Amino acid sequence: MNREDLIANIHSWQERVGNASAKWGGAEICGVSKTIDPETINMAWDGGIRTLGENRVQELLGKIDRLNPAFDIHLIGQLQTNKVKYIIDKVAMIQSLDREPLALEISRRAVAAGTEMPVLVQVNIAREPQKAGIDEDLLLPFVRRCAELPGLKVRGLMAIMPIADDPEAVRPWFRQMRGWFERLRDAGIPGVEMRTLSMGMSDDCLVAAEEGATMVRLGRALFGARPAKI
Ligand SMILES: *Cc1c(COP(=O)(O)O)cnc(C)c1O
Repeated sequence: MNREDLIANIHSWQERVGNASAKWGGAEICGVSKTIDPETINMAWDGGIRTLGENRVQELLGKIDRLNPAFDIHLIGQLQTNKVKYIIDKVAMIQSLDREPLALEISRRAVAAGTEMPVLVQVNIAREPQKAGIDEDLLLPFVRRCAELPGLKVRGLMAIMPIADDPEAVRPWFRQMRGWFERLRDAGIPGVEMRTLSMGMSDDCLVAAEEGATMVRLGRALFGARPAKI
């Protein structure tokens, strides 16, 4: 995609997401840059994108040196425990915390690196068997457990919705996520801050924004279609 089209796309989505989320105080667009080349990604900075979402450690490591270092990079894809060490000092947030062994490893590596890692707890809100994420019945105890771990900072929730032809079909799940976000915020768990509710992608981000997302993750809407194989 050329620079002009990319920046126009970004501005157009910023306006639409901004309008849809106005009553909540706005939502940030995370530019999902998987499969996109660093030169194109860096152009997105000029459109106003400040946060990138990458979902594969290997791909991220291969291109990170060519990315504008001012971007905040968020890991948004399923993360193998043995890969945490490669990214602990490279990403600003891990959005895909979905199980206790991963929490323990992030904590261990963050402490060893003398740093703290902000994380979002991924919730499998629609209870899809094949999908990663904590079941909502276990969410509160899981967040409490994470709150005890040094070096790990729970900063919100993330969800990936079921694929649906009509984004209205997933509106109830977005609403349920917002409910959990507020409940956990009001629970006042020491060390836990509910700042970011990351939900909504290219096809359903406006519904997500209307239902209280503070961050939407847009890949195709900004950068165009990806190669089929990913
Ligand atoms: C790829 C991806 C996105 C963006 O998807 P689009 O449909 O291209 O907007 C968002 N979140 C996660 C976790 C992803 O893997």
